[in-house]
Amino acid sequence: SAALLEVDGLSVTYGLMGASSRAIENVSFALGAGEAVGLVGESGSGKTTTAMAIAGLLSPNARVSSGEVRYRGNVLPIDDDAAMRPHRWSETSVVFQGAMNALNPVHRIITQIAEPCMLKLGMPRGEASARARELLELVGIPADRGTAYPHELSGGMRQRVMIAMALACRPSIVIGDEPTTALDVITQAQILKLLGKLRSQLRLALILITHDLSVVAEACDRVLIMYSGRIVEEGTVAEIFAQPKHPYTRLLIDSIPNPANGKKMIRPIPGDPPNLMNRPSSGCAFHPRCPSVMAVCPTEVPSIDQFGQERVACHLYRSSQEDRGASHA
Ligand code: SF4
Repeated sequence: SAALLEVDGLSVTYGLMGASSRAIENVSFALGAGEAVGLVGESGSGKTTTAMAIAGLLSPNARVSSGEVRYRGNVLPIDDDAAMRPHRWSETSVVFQGAMNALNPVHRIITQIAEPCMLKLGMPRGEASARARELLELVGIPADRGTAYPHELSGGMRQRVMIAMALACRPSIVIGDEPTTALDVITQAQILKLLGKLRSQLRLALILITHDLSVVAEACDRVLIMYSGRIVEEGTVAEIFAQPKHPYTRLLIDSIPNPANGKKMIRPIPGDPPNLMNRPSSGCAFHPRCPSVMAVCPTEVPSIDQFGQERVACHLYRSSQEDRGASHA
């Protein structure tokens, strides 16, 4: 069966101070109904640009230079704000981090949840309020709390309100942009549990954008690791954690604190992540930081190749698989 969402060879450039720079390059992946995918990378990796492109929320100085996004087989007009309007909310909706800034401080939460129902679905006020009460219950807030103002709620409750709003028009995909980053560990776990429940209850597909691999381990089936605008590895959560194949993924997993072996601190990856303006101009973008860099790496961009269920973009990994193939031949 066709995927719900297909991102196909997508490249996006930004015009910055008269120059243009590529934010993402040749990004491809598919998402099935009810599936949860984590988009992981440091800041500047292109994960947010990828997600905003899918949602049709690219900034005005962004340009889709190649590729396309298809929803149920139909090409989305992702770089046309007006043409995207009917798709937003009802197909893909976004939960941003920092619910405090996104909610209107002077309106009761029930009013804010009812608003997209009125504006996007054309519901009369009474029906929209009933729907808003239903949505509150769905995200675990008693409906009579609907009269509260945002400042009267905890951070976790406010994030639940954001999720309720995102669900108002019954989308089949929700994109969470660091949806738990501002929350304490316990609240974070509760929000991830809620997303998991909504996923199975509503057959909702999730794209979770995060810098935090442990969030992905909790909530996702598959992981896309991004570095400097490209996908460098894709695999199931189990595979990526048990056997990371790209040197960058390996360092990312190594950097996670692990109480089991007494590692309490995040161990940062040496060197700086490239930003939009200082990316290596040739070769594998990770080569200045890669502990396994080979002679070919600074000059040739590794293509992303399929190995079984996984995809990896690394010269070293490809040659190790070719050697294995040769010795098995
Ligand atoms: Fe390291 Fe080379 Fe692989 Fe890039 S292609 S991750 S530099 S080994």
